[in-house]
Amino acid sequence: MIDFHVHLDLYPDPEMIVKEIAKRGMYVLSVTTTPSAWKGTSALATSGSRIRTALGLHPQIAHERVGELPLFDLHLRETMYVGEIGLDGGPEFKQHWQAQVKVFDHILNACSLAGGRIMSIHSRRAASAVLDRLAAVPGAGTPILHWFSGGKRDLHRAITLGCWFSVGPAMLVSEKARELVRDMPRDRVLTETDGPFAQIGGKPAKPWDASGAIAQLAELWGGVTEEETQRLMHANLRHLVATATGREKSEQEHQ
Ligand code: MN
Repeated sequence: MIDFHVHLDLYPDPEMIVKEIAKRGMYVLSVTTTPSAWKGTSALATSGSRIRTALGLHPQIAHERVGELPLFDLHLRETMYVGEIGLDGGPEFKQHWQAQVKVFDHILNACSLAGGRIMSIHSRRAASAVLDRLAAVPGAGTPILHWFSGGKRDLHRAITLGCWFSVGPAMLVSEKARELVRDMPRDRVLTETDGPFAQIGGKPAKPWDASGAIAQLAELWGGVTEEETQRLMHANLRHLVATATGREKSEQEHQ
């Protein structure tokens, strides 16, 4: 099972969550909201674990943490994964739009200079602006649009730009989201939860709640069983990581 966007450091007892992740053999992308959270959060992913930590600066707090960009640049060499980053066009965050764009552009350029990263991206009410920035910095890496909620036109533009998507059970409650998922390329989708922010049954989502998305994906896509969908998610993850690290290329050269 895979949870490719979860905030492990924001659970009241992250160690307990980490233990359960290990017990279940889950693959997890542990995203952060500030560069200053990087050190403590990456320490949760002990050696041998299937948890990978992403270095982030969340758009909703970009205006408060813009001063942490040098710290972002400092840690960037330590990880292949960046997130949570992006833009938020919601009315409560729109007043800090300029700071958001400054932070997001800085990060995309830093990723590009570093040779590209796997990026977990927030695009609430800002899908077309996020896609504009991604298009402007194609070397930034592989974007994974988390909880994508843009329009159909944005979705198709995102697909053309090479974006991936992470989809969770909380997102799939919405009929509009389910309609979008039907159009997503199956070989560029991963499961997520966005816990503990996202709620499932009135409670903060746990990483293993990602399993709830599998049955729904199988149903929305049609013609695939849950087991096949689960296997597809693992194949997608392997492909994503292999492509991003360039291993795939060298493997092909050996064949
Ligand atoms: Mn999130």
